[in-house]
Amino acid sequence: MFGLMQNTPLLISSIIKHAEINHKDSEIVTMAVEGGKHRTNYGEVGQRSAQLAHALTKSGIKQGDVAASLAWNSYRHLELYFGVSSMGAILNTVNPRLFPEQLIYVLNHSEAKFLFLDLTFMPLVEKLAQHLPHVQNYVLLTDRSHMPDSDLENLICYEDFIANENTKYNWPELDENTAASLCYTSGTTGNPKGVLYSHRSTVLHAYVIAMKDNLNIGSRDSLMPIVPMFHVNAWGTPYACAIVGCKMVLPGALMTGENFYNLIKDEGVTIALGVPTIWLGLLHYVSTVKDVDFKKFPIESFVIGGSAAPSSMVKQLEDTFDAAALHAWGMTETSPFGTACRLMKKHDSLSEEEKISIKIRQGRPPFGVEMKITDDQGNELARDGKAFGRLLIKGPWIASAYYRQDDNILDEEGFFDTGDVSTLDQDGYMTIVDRSKDVIKSGGEWISSIDLENVAVGHPDVMEAAVIGIAHPKWQERPLLICLLKEDCAEDKESILSFMEGKIAKWWMPDDVVFIDDMPHTATGKTLKTKLREIYKDYSFPA
Ligand code: AMP
Repeated sequence: MFGLMQNTPLLISSIIKHAEINHKDSEIVTMAVEGGKHRTNYGEVGQRSAQLAHALTKSGIKQGDVAASLAWNSYRHLELYFGVSSMGAILNTVNPRLFPEQLIYVLNHSEAKFLFLDLTFMPLVEKLAQHLPHVQNYVLLTDRSHMPDSDLENLICYEDFIANENTKYNWPELDENTAASLCYTSGTTGNPKGVLYSHRSTVLHAYVIAMKDNLNIGSRDSLMPIVPMFHVNAWGTPYACAIVGCKMVLPGALMTGENFYNLIKDEGVTIALGVPTIWLGLLHYVSTVKDVDFKKFPIESFVIGGSAAPSSMVKQLEDTFDAAALHAWGMTETSPFGTACRLMKKHDSLSEEEKISIKIRQGRPPFGVEMKITDDQGNELARDGKAFGRLLIKGPWIASAYYRQDDNILDEEGFFDTGDVSTLDQDGYMTIVDRSKDVIKSGGEWISSIDLENVAVGHPDVMEAAVIGIAHPKWQERPLLICLLKEDCAEDKESILSFMEGKIAKWWMPDDVVFIDDMPHTATGKTLKTKLREIYKDYSFPA
């Protein structure tokens, strides 16, 4: 027997409809790509999303068609989020930091018919256009007065495109499993893979991230996603903020510690989300600001994701701003929210050091996410905080397949292999030990490159650290520590190694330290270990 409740589908259009009615004055602040600060609200974003949908419909875009974006975090990008998906089309957010050949691959694979782009990306798109046979129109996310001279054919000005359109759109009642947005992984090997989010997965994910133990987003908050809208939908925050009516602060193209600091200070930011390198930039800038009591800022939480943050960073953020610094873990395939690291009531009595040792974990899954760890044969391992193995995950916002790929990516119980190696403990805290391809196999045992990196960056001279395994005749592999030093610091291997002593198992100690002038990063800001392995492929340890 079925229940007798209304079967209202979970749709992105219902989010913007709700926000337009109930949170119409909640602000959306953007550091505009054209310069200056732009202010709007959900009322206007709702109306302009409808105008965009009308303009797209008139241009022949139908349900199931793909429109792509190459854009920073901005109110216009937000309008694409709501306008494109709500009309039943699919928004393919493309990461501009991918290599040109990967960009071409993605846009041809998704067969995007429209490409919306920020001014910043004009030179790039002018070069790519000849390789993009599916793109019929390029829409520059700006107004008439900022339109550049360009030979690009079918170039449209966004503000002209939507001007004069009706501010109401009769959003279709789609099946909630309809595709809504498409994001490609930024893997370091092979072609990027498409993850196709549905309306249902997006809405459920948005409800969940707003919950108190997760990102804790409410109508009184001011949230700044520094995580980009071109990567996993800025962790779903645009949808969650519209649901609860949270002010959004969108930093645009200015990826500097100074911009983030000023926005935190001037826009009353209470929650900010970014990858560790972003927080490094912020902390570095803050160290140059004199005579300001940062503890008086309303910031409550710094959410750290994308890669593991060392305890020194967690501590420094918390001490500087009197705010919580918490890990959130996830990946493109998981929408991305998989865990958040908040302390439990029973941890209140712990010492500060003990608390930090919990905060550097990746955290606990919300209801909706199931996790298990297995060995290479697929046997489930103990949840004892010690055993570590492949992390597998299952739930309504976890990918079941890649876009236009036949490979089965789930095990027989429907779990997806994340490629991460981790532990799980009795309380459900998950701790990433490593990426499965980065873990160092020494004498039949595993060494976590992440743990070593986290200890090394605690050294006062070290800006960034990366550890890779180097082939070893006796031990199979041994760790090599690669350091990028802070400005004006001298290369001193001994000092770094003796700093690490006692903080890690003796046999984990890197066999050597080398110094690098420029740490390579992936398109999402993670250390690019494939590149490091290439650079150091002929390296051999000192005798
Ligand atoms: P991406 O699909 O590009 O978002 O990358 C996902 C991967 O980033 C995960 O599989 C993890 O290896 C890593 N990652 C994400 N969040 C965290 C975190 N909080 N701590 C450690 N690693 C993370």
